[in-house]
Amino acid sequence: MRYLLFPVLLIFLWSCETKKEAKTGNFSTHFENTKGAETATYLQVIDFYIRIAKEFPQVNIQTIGETDSGRPLHLVTLNPESDFNFQKIRQEKLVIFINNGIHPGESDGIDASMMLFRDYATGKIELPENTVIVTIPVYNVGGALNRNSSSRANQEGPASYGFRGNAKNYDLNRDFIKNDSKNAKTFAQIFQLVKPDIFIDTHVSNGADYQYTLTHLFSQHDKMAAPLGRYLDKQWRPGIEKTLEASGEAITPYVNVYNRPPDNGFSQFMDHPRYSTGYTSLWNTLGLMIETHMLKPYKDRVAATYLMLKTIIEYSASESTTIKELRNKAFEEQLQLKNYPIRWELDTTRNRMLEFRGYQADTLESQITGLPRLKYNREKPFTKQLPYRDHYIASDSVSIPKAYLVPRSWDNVKEKLDLNNVTYTVLQRDTTMTVASYRITDYKTGTSAYEGHYPHFDTRTESRIITRTFGEGDLLIPTAQPAMRYLMETLEPTAVDSFFNWNFFDTVLQRKEGFSSYVFEDAAIELLEENPELAADFREKQQSDQEFAANPYAQLEWIYERSPNYEAAHLQYPIYRLLK
Ligand SMILES: [Zn+2]
Repeated sequence: MRYLLFPVLLIFLWSCETKKEAKTGNFSTHFENTKGAETATYLQVIDFYIRIAKEFPQVNIQTIGETDSGRPLHLVTLNPESDFNFQKIRQEKLVIFINNGIHPGESDGIDASMMLFRDYATGKIELPENTVIVTIPVYNVGGALNRNSSSRANQEGPASYGFRGNAKNYDLNRDFIKNDSKNAKTFAQIFQLVKPDIFIDTHVSNGADYQYTLTHLFSQHDKMAAPLGRYLDKQWRPGIEKTLEASGEAITPYVNVYNRPPDNGFSQFMDHPRYSTGYTSLWNTLGLMIETHMLKPYKDRVAATYLMLKTIIEYSASESTTIKELRNKAFEEQLQLKNYPIRWELDTTRNRMLEFRGYQADTLESQITGLPRLKYNREKPFTKQLPYRDHYIASDSVSIPKAYLVPRSWDNVKEKLDLNNVTYTVLQRDTTMTVASYRITDYKTGTSAYEGHYPHFDTRTESRIITRTFGEGDLLIPTAQPAMRYLMETLEPTAVDSFFNWNFFDTVLQRKEGFSSYVFEDAAIELLEENPELAADFREKQQSDQEFAANPYAQLEWIYERSPNYEAAHLQYPIYRLLK
């Protein structure tokens, strides 16, 4: 028997070896087959992952939800233990979620992720055993199908690629709160299913020229839960930077300048919740966007993205316990918060020096305009210390109510709450409560179309305590839940990306009734006679405001607005705050 065992074992080992080689060989990507000149088409990407999932039991591909293109989204998961139940996985492992092709013209992450998943699946590189990786291979399906070779005007390859706008021409990286696209609605469902510890969104930057292939755009740490944000700033980001540098690839923060060289320094981009990482950080998920540099060759950009993804995965795996603990702590501690910061301003007093590898910026005379133009001189690279500002300070905050009350008629709000796994109770009978009520006292509106909206900004409110009867079917939403930050950012009208600012409640901004001056004159006299205080205020305004004194309609309007005829719904914010 002994004699026989050796040849059998050898044959077995030999066949394993050839099978492994064959497996790797069969799964070359379109990017590799074209020597880095081309990115895979949408169908090639999906076909690739289906083939990988068929061959390797540790890879799972599933379709979820809809996109505006009419096609579903795909979710690919790689777990060496072949368990794809997220509820279970996240108890045991670090879950890292990579989103690709939100801007399909910026395809680097699409190709890099295909190779990365393949290499982990085949064992070419080893996925840390405490880690599971998940990807949406192509998020903007409609944009990816709308392939062209011209819309990325300043980008060095690939030969052709998808378009930034989705099937309805939305920029999906502005849609994480307003959810106009089916893609964003499905993303919310996927995010709530996966609940990742870490989120990565892959992009290619526009803007200045410099030596780096890679830049990073980490979620703004000051606006995250304190211990988690501090960890991101002091440990996680520097750890990833150092590990990457040790592998021979330098990285710099996203060079946040427009039409000027970065020579005098720059500041961190503020990722409000409309953006991917701004949204995912509302659930205390550590996150960043990878932004490769448009002017570097495609092949190098994909290789750098691959290395960056691998570095984040491996470094984070080594920090898994700390990350899990800090995230849990963030969810616990947010239950104790009394106030929530609602507006942020760059802290211009705090700089840190950044060693920056740039190119000399020359000012030449433009042959087109005859005016000065900027030109980077790649023959003159430099390394110098630049001031970099990455601290923001809260310039305004609101108290966190015990609960919000949303009348059932606002089903556009309810839909978003459901997508985001928000828990609430539905009132079973009419209930009278003492609540804080907002009146919109001021707001400005953009004058050009932005992502299907004319959003409001600089919104101001005044609050008063009222007693109001809420009806059966209205929603009572406690803030003591994992979605607390999401609730504050969307339901507080003064928050930058509030539902109010995204035009959800524009009907309350318009008055539905009015008055005829000649009729209201008599009622106005009576009203002033009955209210001496109002009459005194009116005379005072008449005397102090010449324009007002010369405008009879404005004067009647002033009285009308203070009369019982004036409609309560006008400028009344329709969501209420239960304070205790
Ligand atoms: Zn982008």
